Amino acid sequence: MTRNNYNGKKGSRPIFLVVIIFLSFSYSTDNGLSDTEIISLNKNLDLRDLALNFPVDPLMVEGQKIYFQVEKKHLEGIRQAGYFFSLETHRFNPQISPGHSIKLRWQGGLNGAYHSYKELESELQALVRAYPSITRLYILGKSLENRNIYALKISDNVSTRENEPAITFLGGHHAREWISLEIPLLIGKHLLENYTSDDRIKFLVDSAEIWVIPLVNPDGLQYSILNYRLWRKNRRLNYDGSYGVDLNRNYSFAWAYDSLGSSPNPSSADYRGLEPFSEPETRAINNFFHNHNLAAAISYHSFSQSILYPWGYLDQATEDEPLFQQLSAAMAELIYQVNGRIYETGRAAAALYLTNGDFADWAYAFFQIPAFTIELPPLDLAQGGFVNSEADIDEIFQENLPPALFLIDWVIANYEETIPERPPYFYLKRELEKRLEIIVKDRKSSGFLGKEQGVK
Ligand SMILES: [Zn+2]
Repeated sequence: MTRNNYNGKKGSRPIFLVVIIFLSFSYSTDNGLSDTEIISLNKNLDLRDLALNFPVDPLMVEGQKIYFQVEKKHLEGIRQAGYFFSLETHRFNPQISPGHSIKLRWQGGLNGAYHSYKELESELQALVRAYPSITRLYILGKSLENRNIYALKISDNVSTRENEPAITFLGGHHAREWISLEIPLLIGKHLLENYTSDDRIKFLVDSAEIWVIPLVNPDGLQYSILNYRLWRKNRRLNYDGSYGVDLNRNYSFAWAYDSLGSSPNPSSADYRGLEPFSEPETRAINNFFHNHNLAAAISYHSFSQSILYPWGYLDQATEDEPLFQQLSAAMAELIYQVNGRIYETGRAAAALYLTNGDFADWAYAFFQIPAFTIELPPLDLAQGGFVNSEADIDEIFQENLPPALFLIDWVIANYEETIPERPPYFYLKRELEKRLEIIVKDRKSSGFLGKEQGVK
């Protein structure tokens, strides 16, 4: 894919360049890691209290080790609490360890070919100008810092609501997962650019309403670009003076189900917020879903190469497990055919780690639609983790286009069956909450400890 917005902006860049050079120096010397260390612990330890008592940011599991990022000032406290850990920062910081063997690929400039909020905004506007008959830009809501949450609708007769199934591709829940914005955006661009030349694309666009919501967390993204590359949450100022709510733990289904799949601690990377939908960004998605006839959804994240489906809040199959298995296997096969990369498929809780209050569980529970989380490449932290290179963008897009087209095709073919009469929303919600209360009680008494892995 070409990156038009970049080429088109060269003329206005001299002043901006000076700023970039200045900022690159002040940030690239330590990659924003100066006050933090990466530590590893044995993953078989009971780490529940560690995560509850210290603001550690789980990054990944590798072999027998689990890696956390933590501010230096907490290291002594963690040691005194009896945890034995190894310092691993040098392995992940090319500045500290030149010539190290790990391929950690920081891309150039501040955000290089990746989109900032403003760059995304101008690209979306340019797409609407270029393809006015098949696309329209909507604002679903405002972020805390008053940025727009954009949705690009792609369909024939785009200004009218037709009796067509809707499907949505979302990205950018987590600020540091820059690639997760690029993929839905490029899928949208591909549909627009090939509408007149490709019969299959024309059929999909004519038969469905496709919604691209590339950036759920614009404030977090800007903070990740300008201040701290590994920032994850939104920019909520919490009651304890810390910042950020994890938007992908703030949805209303199974919210706060336990403190393994999300954290009650405001300074934690997966802090769930004070209540479900406490954040304007998740509220915008909630309103959008209540106003549209969604039939399927993919929420892009990074990293780990996996296609995940509900449940995430507990390791248990939904009644639609066979359908989820079938769809995720088909998508993984399509991905494999492009670059030979293997994406693991499975229930989120079983394949990755427990999450509660996340988007996919919520979309499935309340709207009864297939909802997936696709964790994009790389596979692990050693291959870049949250930091993809610029060259990755097109490669990852190419392999994720066929499964996206497949799912659009699927919602068109299964439209009648996938949209049952819904029980009234609030009735359904109360029922689920009642059920959950019982499960929570059961679970507390069993002392179950789920898998704890890095939050993505
Ligand atoms: Zn994520």
